[in-house]
Amino acid sequence: MKHLVWFRNDLRVGDNPALAHACAQPGQVEAVYLAAPEQWRRHGLGDNKLDWIRLNLAALQQRLARLGIPLHIAVAERFEDAADCMVSLMQQRGMSHLYLNAEPGYDEAQRDRQVQQAVQQCGLYWHRFSERNLLEPDSLFNGQGQPYRVFTPFARKARTLLPTVSEPIVSPDPYPLSAPVEPEAQWPLGVSNRFSWQPGEEAAWTRLQDFIEQGVETYHQCRDFPAQSGTSGLSPYLALGIISPVQVYHALSRAGAGEGQQCWLNELLWREFYRYLMHHFPKLSRDQAMYPDKEPIWHNNSAWFERWCQGKTGFALVDAGMRQLNQTGWMHNRTRMLCASFLVKDLHIDWRWGERYFMQQLLDGDFASNNGGWQWAAGCGADAAPYFRHFSPSRQAERFDAQGDYQRRFLPELGDGELHYPNEMIDHKAQSQRFTQMVKEMTHVD
Ligand code: FAD
Repeated sequence: MKHLVWFRNDLRVGDNPALAHACAQPGQVEAVYLAAPEQWRRHGLGDNKLDWIRLNLAALQQRLARLGIPLHIAVAERFEDAADCMVSLMQQRGMSHLYLNAEPGYDEAQRDRQVQQAVQQCGLYWHRFSERNLLEPDSLFNGQGQPYRVFTPFARKARTLLPTVSEPIVSPDPYPLSAPVEPEAQWPLGVSNRFSWQPGEEAAWTRLQDFIEQGVETYHQCRDFPAQSGTSGLSPYLALGIISPVQVYHALSRAGAGEGQQCWLNELLWREFYRYLMHHFPKLSRDQAMYPDKEPIWHNNSAWFERWCQGKTGFALVDAGMRQLNQTGWMHNRTRMLCASFLVKDLHIDWRWGERYFMQQLLDGDFASNNGGWQWAAGCGADAAPYFRHFSPSRQAERFDAQGDYQRRFLPELGDGELHYPNEMIDHKAQSQRFTQMVKEMTHVD
């Protein structure tokens, strides 16, 4: 019997139910990844994320080869092409069973249903396992049996369920046969590779362990200062499933329950919350706000948007954040919040424009977290920052980058002396007041 494991957003060997189940069967195991360039373009993925996928596939190929499992990379341009591609691959290679782990997302679910149908119609077998999140979205509801829309009660309930999180699934044993590693030339897209994260599971574990040993205890004190490396930097790995939240959670649990650990767990729960919302509110995957009545009529000024994208707004911390994003494919959470708020509440540009730009640039681009973060900043999401609360760029800089180290790192024009950064493109106070007014006009709030 021949078994095929379909890798998607779970590019790891450890804690991988689909792989573990396939390997537990008698017979031979092979693996496949379907590259979908046209679909990725539609989803707005940029070169950084695509290259990050490529590098991690190469790392996975090597790991699987050590287990005697070849990883094929096939191209199915759009999700609609996945069913035909999968069936012909299975038939060509004489595979009878397909194994995969669930993935969130509306388009992804539709693709999976089509593949399942096609596979089963050809008399082949389909084995789907749940995603290795901390919580099953259907296991948490509020007192009225409705999905939570507010983070704090969600997190409170989630914490009571965390003791039931299963142990990570161990990696399968190597097969006696060793398989050749397929050449990287199969990759259907260009190569950019300009970021500093190392690909692969080993690198993810090294980062996790370093953070647990050196960073987590002080996380609550350091996490908001973008000049420091006070956060884990695990997001690029979590976004592609190179490490699973279950693995991260168990490593954290062994590290004690101090203030830093609790605070970090809370952030992992934000990630769960956004995935939970996406599961229960499919409209979020369709470009819609959670609360559309809280959206004003946007004034989408393309020239302003361009200045924001390039980090040329004249507000130093905003510009430093955007340039960090453009230069490294990653941005600190503090500046993500500020830059998002600035686009929406100071420039009055539709949050969807910003969401798309972040997705094009981010190495850790993750639909649920990105959409959640943007709707939070815009004030129209579940448990969002209220429309009348505004991030002041100068106040944020005073509080979180008082010495200007982060601003200087990304704005060479600041030099070493006094922070002097003229030419603010708008009047922050006036634009904030105008935004409040715009929302009030829509919602008739007094
Ligand atoms: P740590 O502080 O070490 O946190 C550990 C992990 O918890 C992170 O890796 C991440 O998986 C999760 N996490 C932390 N904060 C959040 C949060 N606020 N929301 C959801 N999950 C969180 N995160 C992404 O992974 N992908 C995105 O595309 C993304 N887009 C965002 C867009 C906006 C506008 C905002 C405000 C936030 C966004 N975030 C996104 C959340 C957050 O900024 C990043 O997860 C975090 O900066 C990653 O750095 P870290 O791994 O060092 O995080």
